[in-house]
Amino acid sequence: MLDAATPYVSTTNACKLCTPLGACIAFKGLEGCMPILHGSQGCATYMRRYIISHFREPVDIASSALGEDQAIYGGGPNLMQGIINVMDKYNPDIIGIASTCLTETIGDDVPMILSGFKKEFAHLKIPELIHVSTPSYSGTHMEGFHRAIRQTAIQMAEPDPLPHSKITVLPGFVSPWDVRHLKGVMRDFDIPGIILPDISETLEGTIQEDIEMVPSGGTSMQDLKSLGGSPACIELGNCIKNDLSTAGWLEKNLNVPAHRLGLPIGLRGMDAFMQTLSRISGKDMPREQMLERGRLVDAYVDAHKYLFGKKCLIYGEEDLVTGLVSFLAETGVQPVLAASGGRSGLMQKSIEQACDGMLPQTPSVLSGVDFYQIVEEAEKLEPDFILGNSKAYRIAAGKWDIPLIRVGFPVHDRMGAGRIRHAGYEGAYDLLMRIVNTLLEKRQEDADLGWGYM
Ligand code: SF4
Repeated sequence: MLDAATPYVSTTNACKLCTPLGACIAFKGLEGCMPILHGSQGCATYMRRYIISHFREPVDIASSALGEDQAIYGGGPNLMQGIINVMDKYNPDIIGIASTCLTETIGDDVPMILSGFKKEFAHLKIPELIHVSTPSYSGTHMEGFHRAIRQTAIQMAEPDPLPHSKITVLPGFVSPWDVRHLKGVMRDFDIPGIILPDISETLEGTIQEDIEMVPSGGTSMQDLKSLGGSPACIELGNCIKNDLSTAGWLEKNLNVPAHRLGLPIGLRGMDAFMQTLSRISGKDMPREQMLERGRLVDAYVDAHKYLFGKKCLIYGEEDLVTGLVSFLAETGVQPVLAASGGRSGLMQKSIEQACDGMLPQTPSVLSGVDFYQIVEEAEKLEPDFILGNSKAYRIAAGKWDIPLIRVGFPVHDRMGAGRIRHAGYEGAYDLLMRIVNTLLEKRQEDADLGWGYM
């Protein structure tokens, strides 16, 4: 409880996003799924705008559109009407329902509303209804994302499925390119897989003659139902708490062996993913990936003289930040500050492990912070460049005049965010080149004399 004597710091420009927004992105990776936000219309408008501006794709998110009366008397009838409207207009196979601050605060019992809905409209063909509780005042978009995936498994996986050979991979919140890349790696291995969620097509689609009301692609219903028959589940993300881990739930409840790793960013991150695939499948790393790995190490050697000792500030989601710190530690860059609005309590240890034996000094780690606190801390550390989403552009360009290299989400001031490469040896190569060339360009621009060879 706060009282007048308790020091209180308000959040100024949060380094996190709204919890149901993360849930909507996860739902967008399920085949035939349409998300509904149970709350006021403004929430859905904000989330649509945020997601569309990043992916540059049409993204529909429905809303139960509560007004003042429902805030007092409850939003059950609105949610039921919203589901009927979505069924009429989109004909989805799945409706993903995420609560918002308003409906969590008034205490709407969504499972009870949905149970009433199924009874009242039993004569209709009702899609699968997946519900996730996402109060934004107590979490981040990543908690919404992971909670939606876990609830999808809990509510969709059959309790007694037939065993099959598809390895389940939970890629975390990475770009559509990253997801496509991981799928390609599994194809190179000749390992069949279930990717959950699979945003590789739904959030980076092709031009169509006729508009698709629900974009094609995503994890299929059949795969969701058969999750419990997988021989193994690989969950990517060091900072996923146990109560948000889908791999943990599958292992505990359906006996699917869990392999929990960090995001496959940088050489060691991707090596860990490759070794896990090899161990599970009994197959060697494919030649194509061996070659990519060799090219990456060669590029590390070439770029080292330009990167050694450069100081970097990294911010964003905890898993992404941890993966990027691990990658930078391999390149000679000194990460000086790793910051996130998330507060899983796992980032500090994960970063220490990633830097162990690699860096003379572990970076400062700030969890649960906003941009005000990040700037305050970073000013003392004088970074040479920043790795993060668009939200620090004003600081980078205006206040410090240092380059911001855009990664993660949201990227609202550049095109091609769906194709930002973070994962795999190819992703690391691309990141390395973007960093080294940005720093060379900056040095060239700032030099008094023109020079064209180095
Ligand atoms: S933070 Fe709460 S009120 Fe704001 S958009 Fe998200 S759910 Fe809606």
